[in-house]
Amino acid sequence: MKLTVLADNNTFIDQYYLGEPAVSYYIEIDDCRILFDTGYSDAFLRNAQRLGIDLGAITHLVLSHGHNDHTGGLHTLLDSFDLSHVTLIAHPGCFEPKKDGDLAIGSPLTENEIRSRFLYQPARTPMELSSHCQFLGEIPTLLPFEPRYAIGKAFRLGQWATDFLFDDSALVCKTENGLFVISGCSHSGICNITEYAMQLTGIHQLAGVIGGFHLFETGHRLAETIRYFSGCDLTALYPCHCVSLKAKCEMYKAALPIHEVGVGMTIN
Ligand SMILES: [Zn+2]
Ligand SMILES: [Zn+2]
Repeated sequence: MKLTVLADNNTFIDQYYLGEPAVSYYIEIDDCRILFDTGYSDAFLRNAQRLGIDLGAITHLVLSHGHNDHTGGLHTLLDSFDLSHVTLIAHPGCFEPKKDGDLAIGSPLTENEIRSRFLYQPARTPMELSSHCQFLGEIPTLLPFEPRYAIGKAFRLGQWATDFLFDDSALVCKTENGLFVISGCSHSGICNITEYAMQLTGIHQLAGVIGGFHLFETGHRLAETIRYFSGCDLTALYPCHCVSLKAKCEMYKAALPIHEVGVGMTIN
């Protein structure tokens, strides 16, 4: 498995890529070339060009969830390439219109537009992309310290309803060093996601976990997250995107094997 960061909040000194508060990763595994999320703007595409990655040759597009810091680049992607042969995998709730107050925060494309431009495979349950890579589908709440919470509203069955972000999912790759978990914003809980990946695969060794963990404040949830990962057989943790400096500092102090993430970074 090889993962390259195409969009993230952070950039590294002396590496001139574009940063933005968003997520996009390019992953090669087995015969798959996977684009995971499309960031907020065209930054992921411009960074991919500078990195020599041809996004016109992807086999899969996976969307972690519908928020526009993960789907905002869809228009740019489709303006640049014909991806009608590409399999798009996402939870069926991913393309419901979403708003926070009056602000639209969902996908710029509707489900019908997606269906006409990709081989669309909505997945509420786990789906294999290849023998070593799986989309997790809807994440069950397995750990009591990570209950579901809501952000704004989603338009579902003809009305606006509180959005508990059931569309938030992740990918898991099987490597020779254990599982590698790839998440977007982890609204479903990064420990719920990791635990579910281990249950599904029966593998409990963790090579790595990357993504926004949606952790900002110190307190019970962060303390329990640190306790959870401290109890795992874990090689590397890559908290990024929606993880505050305070939260990263607490992880570092607890001696978790955390690494900085930035655009252009590659994990093999
Ligand atoms: Zn989100
Ligand atoms: Zn996000």
